[in-house]
Amino acid sequence: MTLMTGEQYIESIRALNMQVYMFGKKVESPVDDPILRPSLNSVRMTYDLAQMPEHEDLMTAVDPDTGTRLNRFNHIHRNTGDLIKKVKMQRLLGQKTAACFQRCVGMDAFNAMYSTTFEIDKKYGTSYFGNFKKFMAYCQGKDLTVDGAMTDPKGDRSLAPHAQDDPDMFLHVVEQRPDGIVVRGAKAHQTGALNSHEIIIMPTQTMAEADKDYAVSFAVPIDTAGIFMIIGRQSCDTRKLEGSDMDVGNPEFGGVEALVVFDNVFVPKDRIFMNGEWDFSNMLVERFAGYHRQSYGGCKVGVGDVLIGAAALAADYNGAAKASHVKDKLIEMTHLNETLYCCGIACSAEGAPTQSGNYIIDLLLANVCKQNVTRFPYEIVRLAEDIAGGIMVTAPSQKDLNDAKLGPYVKKYLRGVAGVSTENRLRILRLIENMALGTAAVGYRTESMHGAGSPQAQRIMISRQGNLPRKKELAKAIAHIKE
Ligand code: SF4
Ligand code: FE
Repeated sequence: MTLMTGEQYIESIRALNMQVYMFGKKVESPVDDPILRPSLNSVRMTYDLAQMPEHEDLMTAVDPDTGTRLNRFNHIHRNTGDLIKKVKMQRLLGQKTAACFQRCVGMDAFNAMYSTTFEIDKKYGTSYFGNFKKFMAYCQGKDLTVDGAMTDPKGDRSLAPHAQDDPDMFLHVVEQRPDGIVVRGAKAHQTGALNSHEIIIMPTQTMAEADKDYAVSFAVPIDTAGIFMIIGRQSCDTRKLEGSDMDVGNPEFGGVEALVVFDNVFVPKDRIFMNGEWDFSNMLVERFAGYHRQSYGGCKVGVGDVLIGAAALAADYNGAAKASHVKDKLIEMTHLNETLYCCGIACSAEGAPTQSGNYIIDLLLANVCKQNVTRFPYEIVRLAEDIAGGIMVTAPSQKDLNDAKLGPYVKKYLRGVAGVSTENRLRILRLIENMALGTAAVGYRTESMHGAGSPQAQRIMISRQGNLPRKKELAKAIAHIKE
C-alpha cells in the first residue's frame, strides 16, 4: 500500500525545509500557522478520503503498468472513465472542503507532461519522457503532493519574454551545465505550493525561437535551495487570528496562493522535461490548461453545492423558504451549477488518447466549461447574497454573541424562525460571506474568472477549436450553394 494517511501527509510536509514568508516575516512552521493551516487541511482531505472504502473508486486508481493502487491525483488517465472519475472526485472534494484543495494542479501537470514529453522525444530523440516517468514513479511510490506551476509574472504584456527589460519576468534558464541547468524567475499566484512536496514548472505561453531559454520544464522538491514563497493575502484572512470559528465562516478549510521565487535554482539533468524545445511550449500549455479547465467543472461545482445548501438554509432559518421567488432562485442556482458539471463531464466523455496512450479531454468542450465558470459562479453568488440578505455582512461578531451583556440582545434581535438558534443562523450567513467575499472567494469567485487562464485565453482556444470552415460548409450544403 503506497497511500499515505492524512496524518502522515501533514507530518511529511512538516519535515520539509520550506522558505515561506508572510506579512514581511519568515513563517517558521507553516503547518501550525493559523492563517495557513486551513489550506493544508484541504489537501489533507485528498488523503483522508482516499482511505475510505466508500470513496476508493473515485479517490484512487490502479496503475495498469504496476498494478499498484494510487491516489487518483497521481494517476495517468487511461480512458474516458478515468477522466470522468477525476471530475467526480473534484466535485466530492469541493463539497467536503468548500475551498480549493490544490492538489489538482499536479495531476493536470502530470497528464500534460506525460503526453508532451513523449512527443518531444519522438521528434528530437531526447530522453524527457524517461525523465518524467522516473520522477512520476517516485511521486507515486511515496504518494506525494505535486504542485504544477505555469503562470509567470509577465511584466509588460505587449513584449515577448526575451524582449522584457527585466529578463526574469518569465522563468528561464540562466546557465546550462553538464549536470543540469540553473533557472531564475518566479511563478505568480501559485496554488498550493507550500502544501506540496514537489513542484513541476512549465512555460506560461507559446514561445518563439527567440524565447528558447524560456521554453523550460522541470521538477524539483519544494524546499530546494533558492526557492522561496511570499504568501498572497486573502480578503478577511486575519479573522483567522481572532480565534472565532463562527466569524471565519469555514473554520477548517481554505486555499492558498503564493508568489514563488526561483532565485538561481539548480535542476539536475534527470529532472528536466523540456530545455529549449520552444515548438512544444504551445502543446504543453494547451494540454495543461485544458485539463485544468476540465477540473473547474468539478471543484467549483462542489463548492457551489455547499453555497446553494447554505443559501437554502439561510432561507429556512429566516422563514423565507416557502416564498416562490426564493424557491426559484435556488432552482436557478442549481441549474447554473449543474450546467458547469455537464461541461466537466462532457469534455471528459469526449476525451481521446494521445500518442503516448494517456487520455486527454476534448479541448473545445473543456474551454467552453471554463468560459462558463468565468460567469456562472458570479450569478450563483449574486443569488446567494440576495437570499441571505444584508445581515451576511452586517452581523456582529461571535464575541458579541457570547458577551454577557450584549449576547442576549444579539440573540433576541437577530433570530429568525423559532427553533433555530441565532448562532446557527449567523454561522450559515458567515459561511456565505466567506464564499462570496471572504477567504474562500479567492477560490470560488476570482479564481473562477482567472484560474486556469482568464476568459480571453479560453476564447482564443474556442476560436481555434470551433472549426468555422466546417460550419460554413454545413450551411452551404443546406442552402444549395455551389462555388
Ligand atoms: Fe483543484 Fe479547483 Fe483548486 Fe484548481 S482551483 S487546484 S481544480 S480545487
Ligand atoms: Fe485553480
